[in-house]
Amino acid sequence: MHADVVGAGVFGLAAATELVERGVSVTLYERNADLGGNASWLAGGMLAPFCEGESAPASVVARGRGALDWWSRHVPAVIRNGTLVVASPRDGADLDRFAARTQGWERADEAALATLEPDLAGRFRKGLFYAGEGHVDPRAALRALRDGLIRNGAELRFAQPYPPPSPRLRGEGEGRPRLVVDCRGWAARESLAELRGVRGEMLLVRTRELRLSRPVRLLHPRIPLYIVPRADGVFMIGATMVESAEKGGVTARSAIELLSAAFALHPAFGEAEILEMSADVRPAYADNEPRVTERDGRIFVNGAYRHGYLLAPDMAARAAQMASELVD
Ligand SMILES: Cc1cc2nc3c(=O)[nH]c(=O)nc-3n(C[C@H](O)[C@H](O)[C@H](O)COP(=O)(O)OP(=O)(O)OC[C@H]3O[C@@H](n4cnc5c(N)ncnc54)[C@H](O)[C@@H]3O)c2cc1C
Repeated sequence: MHADVVGAGVFGLAAATELVERGVSVTLYERNADLGGNASWLAGGMLAPFCEGESAPASVVARGRGALDWWSRHVPAVIRNGTLVVASPRDGADLDRFAARTQGWERADEAALATLEPDLAGRFRKGLFYAGEGHVDPRAALRALRDGLIRNGAELRFAQPYPPPSPRLRGEGEGRPRLVVDCRGWAARESLAELRGVRGEMLLVRTRELRLSRPVRLLHPRIPLYIVPRADGVFMIGATMVESAEKGGVTARSAIELLSAAFALHPAFGEAEILEMSADVRPAYADNEPRVTERDGRIFVNGAYRHGYLLAPDMAARAAQMASELVD
């Protein structure tokens, strides 16, 4: 069996990986000249099914549970240090509400917080610790998937836009159709009219004044924030959620809000060097659940919303399963 996979975002790379592992010969097409320039490049890389359960449907929690193991099998630096959720004493009710809506946590008092994250000692009185969660550096993870595909014989064609589906003309389509797994993200909206865009903005900063071992989420009524530690003193600060398909740059308001929330988490962020500010559009369906669908022989894997890394393993397995059913 041969499949053309379209898009080198997290869904395309994961689907191609899963197909190759099931013995399918894969050619992957990406319109950009290299990895990046897409929503997957900007993600926090949090593999946090329990925390996401606060706002996501139960199916996202269930389908995301296997993500840590899948990523650990495929990329080298998966960090399994859990997630810490904190709130200022003023926002303590938010912490209780978050706990009531999620599973997999244990309460962390001031002493436990200081043990988990010594640099946050004394800054928060209460938190929730989700030991069963983890995170990846998304850019390193995408590179590792790309390299794995090349090692395993897939053909990767960058700077090669794949044509969108076209209606079949009479007399066309005889013989076996080409199997296409379409992972174009937001670019597939002309085929998937139900998709909507949810704009996300993020910052990368560097400070040597602070060390964190795990993603930290700061609950706040207006600006819920997460900070994901990367190597070399780099932190990803994210992410806004705006019901808009406007790509554009990061707005001044979002930059101010994200940075002031980070500063509230720890004053070291006040002196941090800003390395990058970026924005992109998350493709999402109305219920915020991703889908694998088939139209005219093309398999669409889309609607990642804010769960691209969390749900890529499950989506990739579903796409590979559908591909084998289509070919049989
Ligand atoms: C700021 C921010 C933070 C986020 N944080 C997280 C997080 O912590 N955890 C998480 O799980 N998710 C997170 N997400 C969500 C996640 O990043 C996205 O939902 C997911 O990456 C979408 O993946 P995708 O592969 O569907 O699309 P994309 O990453 O957009 O990839 C689609 C690819 O298809 C290519 N393409 C399009 N058209 C063509 C064509 N005709 N031919 C060839 N190639 C084509 C594009 O160039 C692109 O590379 C975040 C998103 C943002 C914006």
